[in-house]
Amino acid sequence: MSEFLDLELQDGIRMPWNVIPGTKQETVNCVIPVSAIYTPLKPISDIPVLPYSPLRCRMCRSILNPFSIVDYVAKIWVCSFCFQRNQFPQHYSSISENNLPAELFPQYTTVEYISSTETGPIVPPVFIFVVDTCMIEEEIGYLKSALAQAVELLPDNSLVGFITFGTYVQVHELGFGLLPKSYVFKGTKEVTKEQILEQMCFFAGKKMPTTGVIAGTRDGLSSESISRFLLPASECEFVLNSVIEEIQKDPWPVPADQRASRCTGAALSVAANLLGVCVPGSGARIMAFVGGPSTEGPGPIVSKSLSEPIRSHKDLDKDSAPLYDKAVKFYDQIAKQLVHQGHVLDLFACAVDQVGVAEMKVAIEKTGGIVVLAESFGHSVFKDSLLRIFQSTDDNLGLSFNGILEINCSKDVKVQGIIGPCSSLEKSFVFRHCYWSRKH
Ligand SMILES: [Zn+2]
Repeated sequence: MSEFLDLELQDGIRMPWNVIPGTKQETVNCVIPVSAIYTPLKPISDIPVLPYSPLRCRMCRSILNPFSIVDYVAKIWVCSFCFQRNQFPQHYSSISENNLPAELFPQYTTVEYISSTETGPIVPPVFIFVVDTCMIEEEIGYLKSALAQAVELLPDNSLVGFITFGTYVQVHELGFGLLPKSYVFKGTKEVTKEQILEQMCFFAGKKMPTTGVIAGTRDGLSSESISRFLLPASECEFVLNSVIEEIQKDPWPVPADQRASRCTGAALSVAANLLGVCVPGSGARIMAFVGGPSTEGPGPIVSKSLSEPIRSHKDLDKDSAPLYDKAVKFYDQIAKQLVHQGHVLDLFACAVDQVGVAEMKVAIEKTGGIVVLAESFGHSVFKDSLLRIFQSTDDNLGLSFNGILEINCSKDVKVQGIIGPCSSLEKSFVFRHCYWSRKH
């Protein structure tokens, strides 16, 4: 047993069975199925870090590893998964039994590669705050002070965006230093990517391409147009603080017999689309601060009329919550979009009333986000949890964003599925973890 514990320390893998059944009958007899618990980014003290790209099998894309069979004379390696023979590239020509590349050392069963060619340039983490304003003044005050504290702790290089919402969605232009400026979207309707591109002047003065998906600087978006909304924290501290300072209760009057008009769904779809337009495929998280139920636009959980009570556990059990399925469907759509973009949704829901976590949770779970529930934004559960995310000495806050887990196995092994904070990328054995953390 101790040898398996040593392996766990080295590779972050634990298996209920350390022997794989050899026959079909043996497989059937296994009450607990053969599985592996894998801890990505497990802190391993002397993990080798190799400053180049991994060598992949030309057939199955598996990586050269200590179990591969190597012919040092012919300079060929045999893939241990599909038995394909692969020629070593030129820069491996000096390989010999006494001159092994690190990835072939028998003890290096887990290694890390730092490769700029496979991953592209390293993009700093992106945080986009989505803040509800349909709250009483006291709650807004608590939230403002918590946000101001969190902003202080943002890593200097991280990019920050800021959205507020109530009856309307407001995207604040942090790169416009002189006056507070924002783009306003109706809360009643879902906003598409195309509308974001057009209405937020991403192609001002230039012709917008009529075909294809536009995503990031690669597709013709100028970095100036992006940096109006997503700015390095070190450059927008002053503007960000004044935007937070100026947050006010949603100014639209609420009749006495109605709930506030809160367009949570529209605001989240604006945030998801803005990230999709500006920084797809890079580590970003939407941090939503919500103080009540969504009543307006896409994915409401209750109508505005106070005469209609909010759905209860019983209603959900009996399938008699009329808005539930539609709202779940909407958030499932958001989840798919965020997973595709590699982005995370976190929810800080602080209210005595329900805010609709049951409907929204699909988007948080699939992206590996965090949920914090408290009765008030003044409660220490909320304040401490928010600060804890940002308290770190590391520039990336000890977080790893946008991970992709690819599983290669030999013909005799069939992967049945995966459990954990990840979503399928709809290719066999490829899953995305939008969020891994060494902290949790
Ligand atoms: Zn192979």
